Amino acid sequence: MTARIKDFEPRDVRPGDTIVVFGAGDVAQLTQHALEMMGIPVGFFCDPLLTEDSATLRGTPVLPPAALDRLDPGTTCVIDAWDHTRYARQPALLARFSRLFVAVSLLGRTAFGEAAPVLPAERPRRIAHYTAQCEPLLTGAGRLRLRSLDVVVTEACTMRCVDCSNLMQYYAHPRHSDLDELHTALDRLLAAVDGVEEFRVLGGEPFANPRAGQVVRTLTGMADTARVVVYTNGTIVPRGDLLESLVHPRMLVKITDYGELSKRHDDLCDTLTDHGVTWVSQKPVWTDSGRIGRVDRTPEELDRTFRDCCVNDLLTLLNGRLYLCPFSANAMNLGAVPDAPDDVIDLRTDWPADELRARIEALYHRHRPLTACSFCRGRDQTTPTVEPAIQVRRPLPLTVVSGPR
Ligand code: SF4
Ligand code: SF4
Repeated sequence: MTARIKDFEPRDVRPGDTIVVFGAGDVAQLTQHALEMMGIPVGFFCDPLLTEDSATLRGTPVLPPAALDRLDPGTTCVIDAWDHTRYARQPALLARFSRLFVAVSLLGRTAFGEAAPVLPAERPRRIAHYTAQCEPLLTGAGRLRLRSLDVVVTEACTMRCVDCSNLMQYYAHPRHSDLDELHTALDRLLAAVDGVEEFRVLGGEPFANPRAGQVVRTLTGMADTARVVVYTNGTIVPRGDLLESLVHPRMLVKITDYGELSKRHDDLCDTLTDHGVTWVSQKPVWTDSGRIGRVDRTPEELDRTFRDCCVNDLLTLLNGRLYLCPFSANAMNLGAVPDAPDDVIDLRTDWPADELRARIEALYHRHRPLTACSFCRGRDQTTPTVEPAIQVRRPLPLTVVSGPR
């Protein structure tokens, strides 16, 4: 099936065709916009997470996968633009269609203007992620290029949000990451894969670690990486080496604006602007995904929780170990979920490169839920939202069930 996917070109459309954009997220909306800029109307978005008809999106209907059954494969072009992690390509849902495309070149060459969807600073990242996902389909199998890697530089945060999805509210004695260990782990990981599209530097609050600049310099120094993004809560204005490390053309600082809690927000924005650092600031929307506790689910529900989770391929490097998602990383780091050797790769061990590559590939392409999923409320479009950044004075109580990391 994957061999039949092609990179879309306008000449692929014939008169009378129905164009379906598979997906309804940022990449799908950009794809629809790019097509319509060329005068190619989109019949509908197909959102694989929908079970019934929904509203319109940018003036175009959004329909569930069942709508595909009504279409004639001979007169249908499906452009797979679902930027939903590893499930971006859906063999079962799209197997009927021989005219199946991805939109890599289309998105790459479109000059998006003011009216285009997605924040301008976000568009290149979205497109780069999608391109990285599609690359193995277009160039053949065998490449292992990671979409992103979360590099945790500290467990400490200047805030303690009760619903922090990275579980900082459970750390009673947070530590900064050991940078020697971190660099060794990075070296081993990068020697085993074919590159990382984007590094995400985070904590806790990464600027709380005064040595975080060393990590930033290491990451921006990697020629094969499109972007390094630092996530901050707007409470600290970096100075000196840390600030200088951010001055790089591939750097983006993402500020979460928590209003009055982001006490240095405006000062931070001004400082970054003065130093020519690219930044964006956004108000947060949170899901109820920040508590550790066993959730009763059937095996099918558990599978679905993992499958639909929006961070189920957000590889996370924490204290020398590689995990598949930030919740799993921090829950295991805290000892709050049972040991699960298949869910983690210890990069403090000097694996033979081939074996390490095989382990990373197995983790990254995994289709079974993690042990941590049974203790996680999930992160998908059905997860209820909660008020962001409600502060608690003390760490939340934690039941430790596994040994030291
Ligand atoms: S969500 Fe809150 S506690 Fe968690 S890292 Fe961000 S600011 Fe810190
Ligand atoms: S533990 Fe499972 S459900 Fe929770 S964030 Fe990670 S992958 Fe998603």
